[in-house]
Amino acid sequence: LKDKAGILVMGGPMMGLTQWTMAVPVVKGTSGILAWEVPSIQKEHECIRCGRCVVRCPMSLMPTLLAKYAKFDKTTEAEAYGILDCVECGCCQYSCPAKISLVHWIRLGKNKITSLKREKRA
Ligand code: SF4
Ligand code: SF4
Repeated sequence: LKDKAGILVMGGPMMGLTQWTMAVPVVKGTSGILAWEVPSIQKEHECIRCGRCVVRCPMSLMPTLLAKYAKFDKTTEAEAYGILDCVECGCCQYSCPAKISLVHWIRLGKNKITSLKREKRA
């Protein structure tokens, strides 16, 4: 790695996952590794309800609402509004002027719902 490389992302620039350690193995499903310079930390601001995330979503979802539901553990509402249909493309987060980690919250919400369903089945 070059000196300036500060962040390693496993996968692509939109859907890749940031790795916090070099100890993560490269596996069959690893499509690529990005090494980026450390960006200035972008502070998350309040949603200004501009609607850009909604317009950009290829699945016609409301990312701002889904992220909020996921953040506050409102899994029933999140599921009702189609959180499980999210393909995690990252378009919403990329276009958000408030720099809200929409995909992070949506992923978290999806994981919670999937775990709850698994628990119910067991
Ligand atoms: S990450 Fe999910 S919610 Fe965001 S634009 Fe893509 S499909 Fe829509
Ligand atoms: S793009 Fe960001 S600021 Fe605009 S409505 Fe969506 S979450 Fe809110």
